[in-house]
Amino acid sequence: METKGKRAVVIGGGFGGMAAAALMARDGFSVTVLERNDRAGGRARVWEKDGFTFDMGPSWYLMPEVFERYFSLFGEKREDWYKLVRLDPSYRVFFKPDEKVDVRSEPEAAQALFEGIEPGAGARLREYLDAAAFKYDVAMREFLYREYRSVFDFLNRRLIVDGLRMKVLGNLDAEVSRRFKDRRLRQILEYEMVFLGTDPKAAPGMYSLLSHVDLTQGVFYPLGGLTAVADAVKRLAESRGVRFELCAEADSIRSEGRRAKAVSFRRLDAEGRPTGERGELEADVVVAGADYAHVETSLLDASSRTYGEKYWASRVVAPSMFVVYLGLSKRLEGLAHHNLYFQEDWGRHFDAIFKKPAWPEDPCFYLSAITKSDPGMAPAGGENLFLLVPAAAGLEDDDGTRERYADMAIRHAERTLGEKMLDSVKVKRIFSQRDFARDYNAYKGTALGLSHTLGQTAVFRPSMRSRKLSNLLYAGQYTHPGIGVPMVLMAAELAAKAASEL
Ligand SMILES: Cc1cc2nc3c(=O)[nH]c(=O)nc-3n(C[C@H](O)[C@H](O)[C@H](O)COP(=O)(O)OP(=O)(O)OC[C@H]3O[C@@H](n4cnc5c(N)ncnc54)[C@H](O)[C@@H]3O)c2cc1C
Repeated sequence: METKGKRAVVIGGGFGGMAAAALMARDGFSVTVLERNDRAGGRARVWEKDGFTFDMGPSWYLMPEVFERYFSLFGEKREDWYKLVRLDPSYRVFFKPDEKVDVRSEPEAAQALFEGIEPGAGARLREYLDAAAFKYDVAMREFLYREYRSVFDFLNRRLIVDGLRMKVLGNLDAEVSRRFKDRRLRQILEYEMVFLGTDPKAAPGMYSLLSHVDLTQGVFYPLGGLTAVADAVKRLAESRGVRFELCAEADSIRSEGRRAKAVSFRRLDAEGRPTGERGELEADVVVAGADYAHVETSLLDASSRTYGEKYWASRVVAPSMFVVYLGLSKRLEGLAHHNLYFQEDWGRHFDAIFKKPAWPEDPCFYLSAITKSDPGMAPAGGENLFLLVPAAAGLEDDDGTRERYADMAIRHAERTLGEKMLDSVKVKRIFSQRDFARDYNAYKGTALGLSHTLGQTAVFRPSMRSRKLSNLLYAGQYTHPGIGVPMVLMAAELAAKAASEL
């Protein structure tokens, strides 16, 4: 379509919505973003309290080339928008209270680490990482920046050949276990699946490409936190003319025949309470970056939905996250920027997420101490901690349960890491299932949307295009390619391209 002066309404000011909005403004659309919260960024929002600045969601900056590419689409250089540092070590893994290893993102260092734990594993890791590099290259070239409109797009000959070589059909745990016996090594090669909300036993083998991402490419940190990246995308969007309406929650997409005509919204106050004020924006194109299940089931009438309640109920929902933001008045010496704890039998933790939903006992956890790279994120001499336990979506988290669980999780982290924390807490906030549901309209309080099982990958993820309304598109973690900030930037690029070609 001729885009000049056409009106686009974007629902949701997370990475997906903002990134699509900026691209559509570049292409000539007049774009408004409706965001229900008082800050943009979505799951990558910031929370500031008493001199502590917390990244509320993502904290691992991976696949830097995706960000470079995104800024280049505007003729911009990423480094003019925020600064990056490469972390060394990339992360520290605790296996037992007194057993830890530092993982460095150089293949030689990783090989030496593996060889030291299991003789022969160093050479096998080299082969594994070569295969992972191949899969990554094919994925970037053929799978990720591609729209799948039907199963035939997925099953073209080239993709079948590459797909088989990429082990699309095998499962990751089998791929890894075949080569490595020591559970600690297997965990280092599989933990990233938690970032994609998936049990490694249910993940396609091609996801071993993630080891190329962390063990070869490296783990980066944007100064100011991931929220500095979200701010940069917002500023970029504004510089191209995008208008942001914050505290504006879309509550209905009005349609006529097969076209979306307008989005109505209600104003909220900073606490998310309706003020009584309402508005409506007419639209030539609507792009939904908000949680897909929410948009389909709450904003569209039944005849305009691509997927019904039954569809959502039959999906493998990605976990929620139990997060505690902790501001301490002292520094902790034994931590790296990113710290992970893997319990010996982590299958029990996965079962508590995917098979028998319950609050996990002796949980695996992730703890970041962002102040290790960016002391300004806490008052002088203080530590900014983010403690995360993946937990099933849909669990009951009333006040009593979450306080007890937070207390247990912090004490568990103290014992595992050998550091006292509770004696110097200045700031504490819990963010869990009910907060994801309330703040982001997340289905069952999921943090991540839908898992990356084979049946929910590529063409099998919810479609980027509504099948009922020809000018309604989706850009966000539910659709292809999926979860994670780099993936969502790709989804935004695909949606913006589709919008300009409608
Ligand atoms: C705790 C946590 C840790 C993570 N760690 C990492 C990491 O380290 N690295 C990484 O790459 N990824 C990570 N992720 C995943 C990553 O954050 C997400 O995949 C990505 O940010 C999702 O972006 P999005 O735009 O799809 O969704 P969102 O960020 O959720 O944006 C959707 C927006 O829509 C808004 N909205 C909802 N309903 C409405 C409505 N009706 N009207 C208006 N607005 C609405 C919401 O408020 C939200 O702002 C993490 C996620 C979480 C939760």
